[in-house]
Amino acid sequence: MTLSTKILLGMVLGVILGALLNVLSASEGSFAANLAAWLINSVFDVIGKIFIASLKLLVVPLVFVSLVCGASAMGVNARMGQMAAKTLGLYLLTTAIAVTLALAFANIIDPGMGIEMSSASTYEAKPAPSVKEVLINIFPTNPVKAMAEGNMLQIIVFAILMGVAVTHSGEKGQNVLNFFESFNEVVMTMVSFLMHLAPYGVFCLLAKLFSELGISAIADLAKYFFTVVLVLLVHGLVVYMTLFKALTRLSPLTLLKNVRPAMLFAFSTSSSSATIPVTMNVAERRIGIDNSIASFTVPLGATINMDGTAIMQGVATVFIAQAFNIDISLGGYIAVILTATLASVGTAGVPGVGLITLALVLQQVGLPVEGIALIIGVDRLLDMMRTAVNVTGDCMVSTVVARSEGLLDETIFSEVSDRDEYQATEP
Ligand code: ASP
Repeated sequence: MTLSTKILLGMVLGVILGALLNVLSASEGSFAANLAAWLINSVFDVIGKIFIASLKLLVVPLVFVSLVCGASAMGVNARMGQMAAKTLGLYLLTTAIAVTLALAFANIIDPGMGIEMSSASTYEAKPAPSVKEVLINIFPTNPVKAMAEGNMLQIIVFAILMGVAVTHSGEKGQNVLNFFESFNEVVMTMVSFLMHLAPYGVFCLLAKLFSELGISAIADLAKYFFTVVLVLLVHGLVVYMTLFKALTRLSPLTLLKNVRPAMLFAFSTSSSSATIPVTMNVAERRIGIDNSIASFTVPLGATINMDGTAIMQGVATVFIAQAFNIDISLGGYIAVILTATLASVGTAGVPGVGLITLALVLQQVGLPVEGIALIIGVDRLLDMMRTAVNVTGDCMVSTVVARSEGLLDETIFSEVSDRDEYQATEP
């Protein structure tokens, strides 16, 4: 069995057991309910949390070390600027397409028609930071603080500076680079270890989640829920794959196969950020993207590229407008496209944040932020799916950029899906 299959099996079994435990816990006070509660809180929760912690543990060292190596390799060719511009442009473009698609589908399906508004409780929106603050905040004052806080953009800036300085520091720089290259290999090996444990970790995460998930909320919000799912599928399978084929002339199916482990991790953890180690491993070892590209595009994408999130926000905006009987003008729709694209940049890659930044989009077009309370019930499940799309988008764009820079190893790209690339090098 390949690792992807094992992870998938872990996921399916986790969902089934979780749903079973959900039913068992209903009979309060009984032996079965106590056993279920013990399993959920003392076994699955503990293992699941340790698994996520181990993933997160690798994010900062991996991004920093890998990007120092990547930036120094890029710095030699002085192509960093061009590559960064291409990456940013594609990330923004795909997100704008995603929101537009979401708005179009939502207007055809009308998910909010007939929804009773009075059921909405209150929802407090958090004040958004100003653009000026956001911009200044990209530049770190203290690299240790940036790493301790896991501030990805600040880490990226510091790593690029360091990588470029390494190339300009002659022999001494070379010594530092050698150290970082070895360090990078060691961290990647840690990622491989962790990926082998993934089927068990994922099993526990999903068993815990589904034991508590109220599926009944989906029935009330079926139209909203399935509109989001439909647009996620269309974007992930049609838009990405068409763009990919047009821009690279490579097989989109092979790309999908290669990206699969990252999608599964994203789905199970609902966090693009915690998935970074796996996405990086997939990008370099399965897709064949050179480290100098992947070390930049993957952490950047996990931080600013959230197409799935933008899709949820687009559909949610139309849904809430319809539920409150408020018309959005054409200018309003354009504002939604712009703000949802920016909100996706400002959404951190952790569970549930897309719902918080949705407040920005709603405020922009004068919709009541309390509307968010209407859709909270189904957001956990949608979060898993949209995170999988977010991460697929990061991989797709990274591959396109790598290919255009001549830094994609096509042999790895086309062969790797048949091999188990997670094997750590034998000691
Ligand atoms: N969970 C998403 C991610 O990590 C962000 C969100 O939409 O809430 O990509």
